[in-house]
Amino acid sequence: MNLAFDQAPGIVVDTHVRRISQRLGFTTATTPETVEKALMKVWPKEVWIDLSLYMIFLGRKWCMARKPNCEDCILTKICPKLPAN
Ligand code: SF4
Repeated sequence: MNLAFDQAPGIVVDTHVRRISQRLGFTTATTPETVEKALMKVWPKEVWIDLSLYMIFLGRKWCMARKPNCEDCILTKICPKLPAN
């Protein structure tokens, strides 16, 4: 829906989006549905498509599950680096 039709009925939440949402302090939720609801409350609909894509990219490149590379991450100065589960 996001990429093929440029429509965002919701926010795509995969393992990267869940983990980064927790580390950045957007939510402590753990299921995709509850993480999505938390993100939808704090982010305007206009950014929902890009938000997922940026988080997935961030999770693949810097904010990995086992060993995040906070030193090189662009968000290191503002990220509270909360634990993710
Ligand atoms: S600063 Fe560290 S914990 Fe925060 S988003 Fe970047 S890599 Fe992840």
